[in-house]
Amino acid sequence: ELQVRKIVAAYDGSPVLHGVSFVVPSGAFAAVLGPSGSGKSTLLRVIAGLHRPLEGAIVAAGRVLAGPRVDVPPQRRRIGLVPQDAALFPHLDVRANIAYGLPRRERDSARVSELLDLVGLRGLEHRMPGELSGGQRHRVALGRALAPEPNLVLLDEPFSALDASLRGEVRAQVSQVLRSTRTTAVLVTHDQDEALSMADRVIVLADGRLEQDGSPSEVYSQPRSPWVARFVGGAV
Ligand code: ATP
Ligand code: MG
Repeated sequence: ELQVRKIVAAYDGSPVLHGVSFVVPSGAFAAVLGPSGSGKSTLLRVIAGLHRPLEGAIVAAGRVLAGPRVDVPPQRRRIGLVPQDAALFPHLDVRANIAYGLPRRERDSARVSELLDLVGLRGLEHRMPGELSGGQRHRVALGRALAPEPNLVLLDEPFSALDASLRGEVRAQVSQVLRSTRTTAVLVTHDQDEALSMADRVIVLADGRLEQDGSPSEVYSQPRSPWVARFVGGAV
């Protein structure tokens, strides 16, 4: 379970998140949906430990990761981040990129082969990132994030660079991997269809404030405000 409690965050004194709270149950897939500039990436960076909040707390799997007197460093949070641009190591092949997520002593283990199967890249393990499609690159990044068996996986607009024809297929593959491993996941997106079709819970963010938190059907059919109705309906 991930608990985001009253998070306030700012850059150089200008506030970006104004007290955001929500809970993602263990094994659930949540989408944070909001327009550009609403604070989605900042929220993920706070959860991952890359940006320290001014107020509030982050609790994952019963452990306080950030709070008034606590700041666990990112590498000790057991959180896997799939960045927007996949950010693979260009000089390492697929296998080595995925193995990079493991402790050194496990990098030659059967675990790497298991991960290659999981993300559907068996047979491509010796390709270099430059020889992969966008969707394949995202699956490598997902394999690398899942390698150390994180408690939580964060995905920052992982499909926005893909063209529409590939996007549906990669979304389905990523959902399938996350559900089969029962990993708690938070996806950030400005795409209504993506949030509604992939997630169990949709958290709508506007200007650093939570507008609504509910199931996809609740957010779609019982929007809490005219703004949510317009945004979720695709009119903003
Ligand atoms: P997008 O959909 O465009 O990725 P976002 O919802 O992820 O947007 P954030 O990147 O969290 O939004 O940015 C929220 C606000 O914080 C914006 O007004 C942005 O200009 C500002 N901001 C983000 N990063 C920084 C930074 N490093 N320094 C100063 N301001 C920043
Ligand atoms: Mg962003």
